[in-house]
Amino acid sequence: MKRKLIAGNWKMNGSLSANAALVQAILSGLSQRAAHCDTAVCVPSPYLAQVQGLLAGSGVSLGAQDVSAHEGGAYTGEVSAAMLKDFAVRYCLVGHSERRSYHHETDALVAIKAQMALAQGLTPVVCVGETLAEREANQTEAVVKRQLAAVIHAVGHCVSELVVAYEPVWAIGTGKTASPEQAQQVHAVLRAQLQAASGHADRIRILYGGSMNAANAAQLLSQPDIDGGLIGGAALKPADFLTIIAAA
Ligand code: PEP
Repeated sequence: MKRKLIAGNWKMNGSLSANAALVQAILSGLSQRAAHCDTAVCVPSPYLAQVQGLLAGSGVSLGAQDVSAHEGGAYTGEVSAAMLKDFAVRYCLVGHSERRSYHHETDALVAIKAQMALAQGLTPVVCVGETLAEREANQTEAVVKRQLAAVIHAVGHCVSELVVAYEPVWAIGTGKTASPEQAQQVHAVLRAQLQAASGHADRIRILYGGSMNAANAAQLLSQPDIDGGLIGGAALKPADFLTIIAAA
């Protein structure tokens, strides 16, 4: 059985002092009770070096929140996959809904970002999810399949190296969580799509993200096709993050 993955997405939060306190609290909690799942924190780029140092030897992996679609050169403000690799980044979010909506990232761009990450040996965490309007128009399945298909098409035989995160846009940062049944239904659709593309979707982790918290994690994580969580707000609260890790 594959190990679950619990990954925190700090978004644009943190400071040198806050990061040190947060990581220390997480590591101290983990030292008291070993995690039976994989764990990661996806931090803002300026703090990669700091958090790399804080996590050294801990077993908690370092993640980034985005990666450039370019290898290098005249792309002011961008951070390449090779740069992330320099800081021992293991996971890289691509296509988070906040990137898709505020930065107009298309399915095609997200697919190139996934390719760039893979080319440097990083694991892309491919985020897919529907808006409330799309759900209400019964478009959920079509939207997530379209988003994932673009990445599957681009990465070819590397599909099994992806992590996928189903994050309904209406549940991110809103306190509204998909019910375990709603989430499981979409995860099963994604699993079937990954199976058709790779032949061994049982090895690919599909995370749920969207207001997962200490109270609802256990139920969500007990669904057969939910292989972990991508956690925003609750990842900034060490006690809550540790409870979610324990639930996994
Ligand atoms: C996220 O940012 O990926 C996320 C799931 O956020 P939250 O847990 O706050 O909804």
